[in-house]
Amino acid sequence: MGRVAIGTGCLLVAAALAAPGPGLASAPKAVVADKVKDRFTPAPYDRQKIRGLLGERMRVNLEGRLLHVNEAALLAGFQRRPGEQPWIGEHAGKFLDAATNTWLYTGDYRLKPMLDRMAQSLIATQLPDGYLGTYLDSQRWTSWDVWVHKYDLIGLLRYYAATGDGPSLEAARKIGDLLELTFGDGPGQRDILKSGTHVGMAATSVLEPILMLYRYNGDERYLDFARYIVRSYDRPGGPKLVASLTATGNVFQTADAKAYEMMSNLVGLVDLYRLTGDETFLKPALAAWRDIATRRLYLTGTTSSDEYFQDSGDLPGEESANVGETCATVTWLQLNWQLLRLTGEAQYADEIERTLFNHLLGAQDAKNGNFCYFTPLVGRKRPSATISCCLSSGPRGVAMIPQLLWGLRDDGPAVLLYAPGEATIPLPNGLDVVLRSETKFPADGAVTISVRTPRVARFPLYLRVPSWCTRYTATVKGEVTEGKPGQFVKLDRNWLPGEMVQIQMDLPVRVAPGGSSYGDFVAIVRGPQVLALEASLNPLVQYPHRAAPRSANPATLGLIETKAGANWPQAYMIDGVVAGKTQPLVLVPFADALNYRVWLARPDRIPLGQVAATAFGRESWSRPGTQHGSICDERSDTYRNTLGAKPAPQDWYAVEMDQAASIARVVYRHGKLFANGGWFDTSEGKPQIQIKRTRTANWETVATLDEYPNASAIQPPGMRDGEAFSVRLKSPVKAVGLRIAGKPGGQFSTCAELAGYER
Ligand SMILES: [Zn+2]
Repeated sequence: MGRVAIGTGCLLVAAALAAPGPGLASAPKAVVADKVKDRFTPAPYDRQKIRGLLGERMRVNLEGRLLHVNEAALLAGFQRRPGEQPWIGEHAGKFLDAATNTWLYTGDYRLKPMLDRMAQSLIATQLPDGYLGTYLDSQRWTSWDVWVHKYDLIGLLRYYAATGDGPSLEAARKIGDLLELTFGDGPGQRDILKSGTHVGMAATSVLEPILMLYRYNGDERYLDFARYIVRSYDRPGGPKLVASLTATGNVFQTADAKAYEMMSNLVGLVDLYRLTGDETFLKPALAAWRDIATRRLYLTGTTSSDEYFQDSGDLPGEESANVGETCATVTWLQLNWQLLRLTGEAQYADEIERTLFNHLLGAQDAKNGNFCYFTPLVGRKRPSATISCCLSSGPRGVAMIPQLLWGLRDDGPAVLLYAPGEATIPLPNGLDVVLRSETKFPADGAVTISVRTPRVARFPLYLRVPSWCTRYTATVKGEVTEGKPGQFVKLDRNWLPGEMVQIQMDLPVRVAPGGSSYGDFVAIVRGPQVLALEASLNPLVQYPHRAAPRSANPATLGLIETKAGANWPQAYMIDGVVAGKTQPLVLVPFADALNYRVWLARPDRIPLGQVAATAFGRESWSRPGTQHGSICDERSDTYRNTLGAKPAPQDWYAVEMDQAASIARVVYRHGKLFANGGWFDTSEGKPQIQIKRTRTANWETVATLDEYPNASAIQPPGMRDGEAFSVRLKSPVKAVGLRIAGKPGGQFSTCAELAGYER
């Protein structure tokens, strides 16, 4: 096992930086060389310090989350098999990964013993043949068992890479040997596709850590096993990731379109390209990246609804659409990071910046480090401390931050993202360059970077110009260099020790169109940050879904900074219009918002008329369907259906409120008709309108929707998409819930709106 000292450069400079990290004097080195050399290498974790917003969120990740994980709960499934649910075993490895990176960066003396305990306790449960899952012998390699081993490998190998801990590498090797022996296309071997969910993608995503193992161990059998995994994609019933993505470039039409699992495989494919130089492995990852970035990416930098990629431009943002699983957000970040390292291209840093400053930090509870499973663009955040895939993935994403900001790009130090702090960047010639950055970014676009070298030295300094930036200048000793959006400024000169670079970039305010999912809406974006109308800061705006900026022209939005109290580090005010009246609107970054709307009505499309008492209800339905869209958003063009679920004798759609409301009139809007369903069968009666008087009461029928046209199980009624039908109740009722129930026509029903009105 070869070992090298990392950071063998100028010790004086390192000491001056006073990095609190643990030091990596004996960190193990990869024993296999990459065939394709990375163009970007991040600054070492333990030789940097990040302050400001990113530093604070990393602090919360450590203090609030990682130091408080329930170690016993993470290990219970290994110690007493079987685990209580199929993927409970993934959390130990995810913790090891997040905590190792965090410890490397902080050197935190409380975290290290937790890490050591977790690794040792996990290894202690490994069976003699190498098995390290949470399943009984009879259930081995079913469901999520390979997936669990994937995270064992990731956690143990990351821990090994940071500490040089021999038993961790040995445990990982035993896992690798067991997998390599068990799965393959040789006689008596199992098919890995049949050992994991989502067209086999959950199991095949073990590709990524198998390559980590190969790197640290050098045994060619692991590289052969990686090639077997990729070959298996194309076996009958396989996800065809390479073939389909290379041919179609469409993730929605590939395998079952499950976002987290598919992107996890792509992360492995990029690394397989790095190790082999075979472009066959890179092409599908590049095609998928382009497809996601251009057709399936939310403005806030996540992807997936209900955990799946959706059709082109279909980006529903309500809570009911289960937007952006945090696991998908983090894996998208990992995919971008892989491509950034490989290519050094600014476009990947652009996406990393978007995701980091918006959806990743937006999913994190800024107070306690808990994470949301889904994070809507319209609605409330609901972070949770309940053990879930996302609660374990979010901290891994935050712990990646020190790999994203600065490092070596080709032959010189590079700044990719702007934050206050400092980093030591070892150059290939042995020289250590310390970059010290002072800025209030993302609140402000001025950045001062001092370049500290032990002596005069010539090298290029690369500064990324964000793609949203319209004016960017970097000034050294009065010499001004202009930057182009989406490219790097290259300052190639003789640097004197302590020389300063003054960067000035504008943070333009943009009005982003809502795309096909939000045609009548816009979002306000400032620099890298998507802004949101926060309910608690706009007490005069009773109905936020009817609030609009006064102008859709950024130049006349009237955006100014404002103060909104200690809980809101950044806040902005714009001129708005609510229900026809001028009204200032207070916006905060999406990353900080709690109960909010990113999508604001277009000033020329503000809804008018009476507002439903159910406008802010929680939505539910009897069977999951395939189409998304809120049923209480005052939009006839977005709807739910129950298509694709098991047949049912009755369907219902419900809205429940926090407080009882008086309801005198109910409006149901039909969604969309299809040949095989989408309506209610009225042969046994018209759809029923039901209410719930208290939260615990039963549903009671208060009316039938007599206006609804006659239809049978096979004959749809004649109606327009989005058509409304209403009924006035005999007398107004006080209710906390409103529901429509009926027999699905064809195989399923649809609902665009269900609204209760006071009059
Ligand atoms: Zn998840």
